[in-house]
Amino acid sequence: MIRKIMRIIPIKLFEDNYSYAVFVEGHNSYALVDPADLAGVKAFISGNPQLSSMNFTHVFTTHKHADHCGNNEQIAAEFPHVKIVGGASDGIPACNYSVQDQDVIVLDNGLRITALHTPCHTRGHILYYFEDYSSNDGTNRAVFTGDTIFIGGCGRFFEGNAEEMHAAMEKAKTLPTDTKVYCGHEYTESNLKWSAKVEHQNQAIQSKLEWAVAQRERGQPTVPSTIGEEMEINVFMRAQLLTGLLGVSDAVAAMARLREMKNSGQTLV
Ligand SMILES: [Zn+2]
Repeated sequence: MIRKIMRIIPIKLFEDNYSYAVFVEGHNSYALVDPADLAGVKAFISGNPQLSSMNFTHVFTTHKHADHCGNNEQIAAEFPHVKIVGGASDGIPACNYSVQDQDVIVLDNGLRITALHTPCHTRGHILYYFEDYSSNDGTNRAVFTGDTIFIGGCGRFFEGNAEEMHAAMEKAKTLPTDTKVYCGHEYTESNLKWSAKVEHQNQAIQSKLEWAVAQRERGQPTVPSTIGEEMEINVFMRAQLLTGLLGVSDAVAAMARLREMKNSGQTLV
């Protein structure tokens, strides 16, 4: 029997955006996460023999910003059968399948996707948690975090506040620690350079930064990390642990302080 395994391929778009193709070995369909540049995505797919022979069935839109969903209307026109999934409160273009927190979608290829509503960067931002039930080693799961969680960072609070971003991080921390994290932008190196000057005693941040620099020099992406790794290196996930360092009373105040510091490039050393 052929073992069916979820595969995730990053597709670089624009300056530093990532779209992703997701499929299961032995099945004939794929989904795309945030395919905001249709021409770029099509060029990538046609250059990939495995993907180009499959059917395109779903778009998972993390949020309403154009660098994540700016070509949804074109996708709907060209691929009318495709389900375009998006957060109910975000006004996603061409969305024909709205989701709210904890909604579950099961695809024909066996993937089970849970929507996790994480309002803050935008009101309707969704994390998509993918579980592959055809794998029985218990490790094949991934979360697409858009502009809410970056590797070693988080998105700006355009439509929310520190309390909501803290809640988003806590929600992500409830996922199994081996869940792979695929984010919306390649910001890892700059996030960790800054973090290393905030939580400067954290050796895990230093090591991950060195790895990220080398990885980028090789022209390779820094995705994915894992939830467990983010709990070690992502200061925004570690807000509760940093109250003393930041001189604030609680995790929400730490989150607010960290975001202000990041926005203004402020550090502690
Ligand atoms: Zn955004």
